[in-house]
Amino acid sequence: MKELLRDNIRNLVPYSCARDEFSGEADVYLDANENWREFINLDTINRYPDPVCTALRKKIEQVMLLPFENTVIGNGSDEIIDNLVRMFCNPGKDSIVILPPTYGAYKVFADVNNVQALEIPLLSDFTLDMDAIKKVGAEQDPTKKLLFCCSPNNPTGNAYSLDTIEEICKSFPNIVVVDEAYVDFSDKGTAVSLLSKYPNLVVLRTFSKCWALAGARVGILVASSEICQTMRAMKYPYNVGLPSQRAALHALNEADAVRKELENIKTVRNEYSKKFQTLSCVTEVYPSDANFLLIKTVDATALWHYLTEKKIIVRNRTTQLHCENCLRIAIGSEEECRQVYEALASWRK
Ligand code: PMP
Repeated sequence: MKELLRDNIRNLVPYSCARDEFSGEADVYLDANENWREFINLDTINRYPDPVCTALRKKIEQVMLLPFENTVIGNGSDEIIDNLVRMFCNPGKDSIVILPPTYGAYKVFADVNNVQALEIPLLSDFTLDMDAIKKVGAEQDPTKKLLFCCSPNNPTGNAYSLDTIEEICKSFPNIVVVDEAYVDFSDKGTAVSLLSKYPNLVVLRTFSKCWALAGARVGILVASSEICQTMRAMKYPYNVGLPSQRAALHALNEADAVRKELENIKTVRNEYSKKFQTLSCVTEVYPSDANFLLIKTVDATALWHYLTEKKIIVRNRTTQLHCENCLRIAIGSEEECRQVYEALASWRK
């Protein structure tokens, strides 16, 4: 892994926070130039947050069974994606591999960092082109630093089997990033179980979906302790605010309620998957392992405008590869799903 890092990251002397130099409890803290006062009622908001989210990571280990040494908390998983690109890819020289149609941020962060995004498109049934992936892997090209595999995939909704993910880890010699933002809605299992076998694998999780904390911006990198240590050294020192760390801790205390709601979302998803199939404006509903449905329609753009006029916002994915005339609809409350269903049912061209 060390050889894959950018030289400047490998040799980085990390910023040293005031709190890095002292651990434990004291009576007087005058080491970080904070304001001693608290003007608003958010317990200790006047103090800098824990740079490495110790309490949160301990709780994540208990509830999500992700080992403490193998996690880094990001400002959403978006921050972690950007950090991975900046850690490994030399601007203007290295590249990432993406599997479109997929989550758009991988290419955007590559573009921002002047890193090329090489595409291996999915086949038209949204399965992976394993032959093409193996061919790229066999080149053993050290400049193709990261391969991003989103499973369950956004916007197609399907998850890849763990056997398939393992095949990618075996055939791609550099870093394989499996983005599991939607994994809790899937029955196909998590790639975390492969981490001990494949040191080139890293997994991304987020509190934005099933944990219902999109506004808090909390994501998780799960990776070898070596990769985690390097990311802790190069990330913004205080990348996750105190209220966000607390919100994630609170959510983990509510794990039972979250898991119950997860089952409810899956039930509503499966119900509306069947219902959407009966609509005359819908030509196909794709199987979903996520908390959204991708539906093929007779005219996605017209339907998007029609729904928007009714103050119902869905995502028009018609410009994405293999997604012509597709809308992506998140599974909201039963009432919200009913509203979008009834609106689609009363659509006349
Ligand atoms: N990965 C995928 C596949 C996503 O769809 C999203 C957001 N929609 C993210 C990552 C980013 O999540 P976060 O809110 O944790 O930055």
